[in-house]
Amino acid sequence: MIDQPMTRREALKTATAIGVTAALSPLALLADAAMAEPAVRKAATISIATSPAPFAKQDVGKLLDDLQQRAGVNVILPFMYTHGAVRAGLPAEGFRGGNFAIPHIEYYKDTGFTYEDMRGTEFGDVDVFARLIPAAHKRGVKVFGWIIEDNQCPATIPHWEPLYEVDFHGRRAKGHPGGPCYNNPRYRAWLLGLVEDYSRNYEIDGIMWGSERQGALCNALGAQHDGGKTDPGKVTCFCEFCVAKAKGLGIDADRARRGFGELEMYVRNCRANQRPRDGYFVTFWRLLLKYPELLAWDNLWVTSRHEMEHDVYHKIKSVKPSLIVGWHLWQNLSFSPFHRAEEDHALMTGWSDFVRPCVYANCAGERMHSFVDSVHGNVFGDVPNDQTLDFLYRVLNYQEAPYDKVTAAGFSADYVLRETRRTLDAVAGTSTQVWPGIDIDVPVHAGSSQCTPESVKQEVFAVFKAGAQGIMLSRNYVEMKPENLAGAGAALRELGLH
Ligand SMILES: [Zn+2]
Repeated sequence: MIDQPMTRREALKTATAIGVTAALSPLALLADAAMAEPAVRKAATISIATSPAPFAKQDVGKLLDDLQQRAGVNVILPFMYTHGAVRAGLPAEGFRGGNFAIPHIEYYKDTGFTYEDMRGTEFGDVDVFARLIPAAHKRGVKVFGWIIEDNQCPATIPHWEPLYEVDFHGRRAKGHPGGPCYNNPRYRAWLLGLVEDYSRNYEIDGIMWGSERQGALCNALGAQHDGGKTDPGKVTCFCEFCVAKAKGLGIDADRARRGFGELEMYVRNCRANQRPRDGYFVTFWRLLLKYPELLAWDNLWVTSRHEMEHDVYHKIKSVKPSLIVGWHLWQNLSFSPFHRAEEDHALMTGWSDFVRPCVYANCAGERMHSFVDSVHGNVFGDVPNDQTLDFLYRVLNYQEAPYDKVTAAGFSADYVLRETRRTLDAVAGTSTQVWPGIDIDVPVHAGSSQCTPESVKQEVFAVFKAGAQGIMLSRNYVEMKPENLAGAGAALRELGLH
């Protein structure tokens, strides 16, 4: 630990008392960081998430030198398997994606996939790991495989479709908030095969996996940022494997289907401004009483993902115990108290060397605003949006800008500090580390606040003031303005970490 939990709590108490938590003083942050043990501070992980594209096409040595000089990067995480063009940092038109290293087909026996299904061909014959790893290791930089779950079924690869979830109407869910099913044996075989392939065949230093989804009940409500238009009829997963698993746990799938059917109508009516007789909140709660299966199905999904993570962790460790394994956590749990309840970091310590909570402060403004809009369409329909946001700030423990200003203001570094500290408190006493992902030019809509070198600097200070063991410069190197990345470097230098 960089500093003592009691010291951090006392510092926050003092800061709150004098009313400075919304705009943290860099001097105060530095003074706190200076209390850290120099040896520990030098060991901080400075990681960066990136598209593989620059490392497939450009001079890898030069890129790494620049990342080290500009921001002291000592871990690099390329998106190594994705069918998402944005993550790969390439134009969407004609993009197919896949594995940007070489799939060794013997690890994918029970998946139904061919080599051609999996191999990403956008960079020709280039194997990004083979190109990146020797140059990185020469410079003391570690390389992790970053595998993000694709929640849009790749249309050009038919073998993916049977691995995707099924909604309660029996339709295949080919896109967010659905995705591949954690109880589908072929999906499990594929993911476990992929991490084994990477672990056995490349001199990687670790793997990060992540999914940007949540459970069935949350999806039914569209309780996510930008969730106001999600389809409450596309709630998952009711595939044969999930239904069988539920049966084994004593959960009645037919009652769950009926419950989600009534919830679908509730959400559709609420969005059409048809206020239920007893109001939006009471009617929602009554549905939970009538159909406890709604919560049971949500929990089934959440625990299935945790089981998947547990199995991925142990698969990797069985190949090479020294590999570092951790998880990207969707930023939605910063906005939704429902999602936050699903993701208990303390539980995850059983299968996590590190966790990466996304604390993207700048884009959090517009994301929080859109979350309030999403839940105004149902559970909080009786509450004006500005009051809902005040309530959420209380519930989530933030002090940020009001509803009418938060999009233009973004969130402050104080949010980064609070979320980092909350995560650290959850994993305290375990070996799980926390490497918060900070916002360096995560794309936002026109009119929203923009990152600056100073805003990035303040985020970095907040992460280390909270006591994190590392940081992840996020979300994608190819989106970052050089001057804003340099802002992170300047803060790290001031903290003695670079
Ligand atoms: Zn399923």
